[in-house]
Amino acid sequence: MTDCLFCSFVSGEIEADVVHETDTTLAFRDINPQAPTHVLVIPKAHHPTLAELAANAPELVADLAATAGAIAEKEGLGEGYRLVFNTGGHAGQTVFHVHGHVLGGRPMGWPPG
Ligand code: AMP
Ligand code: ZN
Repeated sequence: MTDCLFCSFVSGEIEADVVHETDTTLAFRDINPQAPTHVLVIPKAHHPTLAELAANAPELVADLAATAGAIAEKEGLGEGYRLVFNTGGHAGQTVFHVHGHVLGGRPMGWPPG
């Protein structure tokens, strides 16, 4: 039993719309997509933020980047994609199990809002 939504996806306690899985990472569709492809990539281990992940399990940062690349390939994002890690309140982080947003399928624009 956990009070972390994304840990519940990893354990299977709650079902996610999984698009890719590795030994160390899970990727699933965002429930409120902001682009034609909007997939969240997480480490299976619970770490709150990207900085804490980098400090405590840096190999998992590489695993997240590789999984994002695999998703881009699977989803046909050859034109490019954005990988976003919202960190903290000002960035709008609402789930404190680190996750990267893989966004693509349209021109993403810059700067972000
Ligand atoms: P962030 O605001 O960066 O913390 O991102 C959290 C993301 O989780 C948001 O884009 C939400 O739409 C997404 N989200 C929240 N609940 C779920 C859920 N049950 N399944 C999939 N995505 C979710
Ligand atoms: Zn968690």
